[in-house]
Amino acid sequence: MTNPAIAPADALADVRARIAHAAKIARRKAEDVTLIAVSKTHPAEAIVPLIDAGQLVFGENRVQESEAKWPALRERFPAVQLHLVGQLQSNKAEEAVHLFDCIHSLDRPSLVTALAKAMDKAGRRLPCFVQVNIGAEEQKGGCAIADLPALLDQARAAGLPLAGLMCVPPAGIEAAPFFALLDKLARDHGLDGRSMGMSDDFETAVMLGATHVRVGSALFGARG
Ligand SMILES: *Cc1c(COP(=O)(O)O)cnc(C)c1O
Repeated sequence: MTNPAIAPADALADVRARIAHAAKIARRKAEDVTLIAVSKTHPAEAIVPLIDAGQLVFGENRVQESEAKWPALRERFPAVQLHLVGQLQSNKAEEAVHLFDCIHSLDRPSLVTALAKAMDKAGRRLPCFVQVNIGAEEQKGGCAIADLPALLDQARAAGLPLAGLMCVPPAGIEAAPFFALLDKLARDHGLDGRSMGMSDDFETAVMLGATHVRVGSALFGARG
């Protein structure tokens, strides 16, 4: 499944082909699925070959790591887009608004407030996915399904551009029912985006309506 020895361009071509195949089965267009290459823990030297192979959308899960890695890369490759896929502390909202182009982890009222303030200050509005704790797991990021309507109302009232919903299903069990549930919640709330699917299950996610898949190890090899 993950083979660190494989050349980055080949790994990218393979993941793209698998997305296209899954989209075709579901009678969807592959262009409607954005591949986010999750480069957390991997250095710039591992990222550049993917950019050279045509990958322009990347994801990171930590503000601090991204601050160290991405400003120089962005200067070299201005077309790159950077998504924050990991949890965000409210006191890092300003840095996040400067560093990223999209946030996938909006999950609580205090973060809506912090992000709205940071975006006002920066004069920059980033699309946000609301992360849902889709398996109702303790200690997992994401808002409870019961709290989703109120959080969406608050985000809309605060002027945050809502891209859609995001989830990370529970580990170790079949992800498909959770993807189907996220798809239904997005539809119920009139949201277009569904950020779901990682290296082990992105094809299933594409078949169930993912618009953004977040793929790390299948592109970069296992994390150390
Ligand atoms: C690390 C991470 C990914 C990518 O995981 P892989 O299994 O390596 O593809 C996707 N989403 C989030 C939120 C992550 O933290």
